[in-house]
Amino acid sequence: MPNKILLEKYARLAVVTGANVQKGQIVVLRTSTEAVELTREVARQAYIAGAKKVHVIWNDEPISKSGYEFALTEDLKEMPQWSIDQYKYFVDNNAAFISIVSPIPNALAGVDSQKMQEVMVENMKKINFFREHTMGNKSQWTIVAASNPSWAKKLFPELQVDVAVEKLWDAIFGACRVLIDNDPVEAWKAHNEYLRRNNKVLNDSNFKSLHFTNSLGTDLVVELIEDHIWAGGSEKAGNGVIFNPNIPTEESFTMPFKFGTQGRVVATKPLNNAGRIIEDFWLEFKDGKVVDFDAKVEKEALQNILDFDANSRYIGEIALISHDSPISNTNILFLNTLFDENASCHMALGRAYPMNVKNGNETPINELEKKGYNNSMTHVDFMFGSKDMKIVGTKQDGSKVLVFENGNFVI
Ligand code: ZN
Ligand code: ZN
Repeated sequence: MPNKILLEKYARLAVVTGANVQKGQIVVLRTSTEAVELTREVARQAYIAGAKKVHVIWNDEPISKSGYEFALTEDLKEMPQWSIDQYKYFVDNNAAFISIVSPIPNALAGVDSQKMQEVMVENMKKINFFREHTMGNKSQWTIVAASNPSWAKKLFPELQVDVAVEKLWDAIFGACRVLIDNDPVEAWKAHNEYLRRNNKVLNDSNFKSLHFTNSLGTDLVVELIEDHIWAGGSEKAGNGVIFNPNIPTEESFTMPFKFGTQGRVVATKPLNNAGRIIEDFWLEFKDGKVVDFDAKVEKEALQNILDFDANSRYIGEIALISHDSPISNTNILFLNTLFDENASCHMALGRAYPMNVKNGNETPINELEKKGYNNSMTHVDFMFGSKDMKIVGTKQDGSKVLVFENGNFVI
């Protein structure tokens, strides 16, 4: 059982700082049956904030697994019109979206990955307009997480299940700056200021490219898109409301030039994607594209990510995070991207965020593509930061600047 006061503070943080729900606004909670308690509290806080109506869409991983086991691929691929229409309604009516994740590690292990891939691609296509809406920040959206027994036991196998669940809750609260003696909404105002400073320094530098090296074998040059913008922390949605897309967040991130990544990147944390945990992997890039890769565990799952669509072998995001951050200092591997990506420098295969280039949110995607924006139906972050990461930035005039040393910002 999570501490009730902390759970309330966390839910309020998701509603006020995360989605910044406005009076009279529709709220959509996309959540898991593992997170009933937090879902109820978030819904309550949303109504307190003045939500007109809170819509809840539940996901249950064991039920999804049964579907994959027993139903036909053709039947699973069929997405009824009413189900698509509900997303149309939310998008057209300026809803605020709150996702609550509560993963069951390896929930879908054993499922035919080809079948899963086909179904996911098909479903993604049908609500692609919804992904474009959120990734283009047209209205507010945010993601938070809830502890659950399977996840907690996976992280703390030596503990009794109740103790493990509580320990994971405490880790989540701590990582999100939700403390017994603070007002997390105020704490996040200060944190957003810190991120704004980092973004400003990086934007003022206007780097042409970044060169990442460490002792694990990462030796990678990432060219940035022209007129790129470093972002992170709070954002302004298309509807004018300031919100925080991720809680927690520690990153400053921007858009790579689609064809400008060269060399090798070695992952430093496992990647938990579509119910599978990929471990000990590396990718080799040439002119922006992954041309070689390997993984000691779940190589096929990595292959599926890379072959998701025509552009999923190119990257859409590069993010810098000091190794010395509240999340990496917990020394807990959360096996969840929301947390782990904020403990480590990371990049994402697939779609870029339009906001990371000048006037990106107002420019049609096909125009952005001409500049080197990567358009894909997927966006999968993975972590490669380390305590010995060094980053050297090259400016437009060719001069070099040390950006990271020993894993931390030095700029
Ligand atoms: Zn990121
Ligand atoms: Zn990302």
